[in-house]
Amino acid sequence: MEKYIATIGLEVHVQLKTRTKTFCSCSTEFGAPPNTNVCPGCLALPGTLPVLNREAIELTLLAGLMLGCETPEISTFYRKNYFYPDIGKGYQDTQLDLPLCLGGAVPLHTFAYPKDAQKTIATPDKKIRLSRIQLEEDVAKFFHMENGSGLDFNRSGMTLVEVVSEPDIANADEAFAYLTVLQQVLVYGGISDADMEKGQLRCDVNISLRPVGSDKHGTRIEIKNMNTISGVRRAIAFETQRQATALDAGETLRQETRRWDDTRGETILMRVKESAADYRYFPEPDLPLLRPEPFLAAARARMPELPWEKRDRYVRDFGVTEYDAFVLADDLALAAYFEAAAQGAAKPKTVANYIINDLLSALSAAKVAIAESPLRPDTLRSLADIVESGKINSKQGKEVFAEMFTTGKDATVIVKEKGLEQVSDTGAIEALADEVIAANPGPVADYRAGKPAALNFLKGQVMKLSKGKANPQLAGDILAKKLS
Ligand code: ZN
Ligand code: MN
Repeated sequence: MEKYIATIGLEVHVQLKTRTKTFCSCSTEFGAPPNTNVCPGCLALPGTLPVLNREAIELTLLAGLMLGCETPEISTFYRKNYFYPDIGKGYQDTQLDLPLCLGGAVPLHTFAYPKDAQKTIATPDKKIRLSRIQLEEDVAKFFHMENGSGLDFNRSGMTLVEVVSEPDIANADEAFAYLTVLQQVLVYGGISDADMEKGQLRCDVNISLRPVGSDKHGTRIEIKNMNTISGVRRAIAFETQRQATALDAGETLRQETRRWDDTRGETILMRVKESAADYRYFPEPDLPLLRPEPFLAAARARMPELPWEKRDRYVRDFGVTEYDAFVLADDLALAAYFEAAAQGAAKPKTVANYIINDLLSALSAAKVAIAESPLRPDTLRSLADIVESGKINSKQGKEVFAEMFTTGKDATVIVKEKGLEQVSDTGAIEALADEVIAANPGPVADYRAGKPAALNFLKGQVMKLSKGKANPQLAGDILAKKLS
């Protein structure tokens, strides 16, 4: 029995997929040379005024719609003041009491958990409530070189949403599942590419521990700026243990900000936490009150099929398992491939099996993306259909698959070339059966005397005569009929 209950909330910063920045028309292109996508506005020169990006509003509202948030009638912007080299204006434009989205939830799903945790999920189908989704601007990138430091203002003014959860997360595995589902939703909506390697999804964790039986929350500790989902999981596991050990030793925890050192596998103290009051938030006088309604209508028109809706449809319409559906719907390109291949297939489940068991590993070994698969969806379907029809068995199907993947040839062509086709011609098998019965009077008598195993021997003889090509099921049936 655990001694402590962890209370965990996540703040996730997501870079929106807008072509231009939040308040100016500079490009958001990734990887441009430093300080080339800049203008007086995002360089924070005096006298410039912000013009709010319509697409940024729509994408934020779309995220809210997908996650079941409410939108207030009026939304407002605030200046969050602080002094740091990466913030030229001395403040960040963000939202406070009236963000674009309020409430909502992220629905967790068994297969969104880490693989090794899927068997021990405490509350399957848990929903993590959201507090808010707000629109804000990113700051410049402060980086250190061999001699001195540099600032890249390309990132200054990039569009972010901050997704803030309620402290509903109970452990590291739930945080992992939460981020997995959130990332999926953002990609589905075309809201963000949410590519963590490119820093497009960054996560701050708030975590406190309290003894079981106490309803008073423990001291809140923040871990800043993590950029891998597995890193967040490890950081929470470490921090929970660290706090429990400290509390066990009778220590009093301070409210502080820590960072995660992935190589050392531990959190490290950065600073003793500042509070919201330190930022001196005040209403942004250069941005008028925003009425979201007209933008909301536009966002509604962009509502995609949600990941969980797609998965349900796969299970319902294609007869795949929930696990198959999760794997196939996890990536939009893979989902499109599956649907193209499964459409009109004799048994879509067989198509799903080939994709999950054979295609994905072949692609990953060849380092090829699904969209560039050398095997087209209709080609894969034809293989699945040939196996389904019984013309070749599943073992031969694997052989044909490998050949198809490397040569791009059609399944029917390979089956012919390799002479794999099973003989399902009743007449041909009957002739072989007659031959076998005539040549094996002993086993025939055994079978007729009530020894069913003798039939297997006879069937084996038919298979041998056909050089393995007879349909075994059919061979057995024909023999049994002839001997009855
Ligand atoms: Zn600019
Ligand atoms: Mn923020």
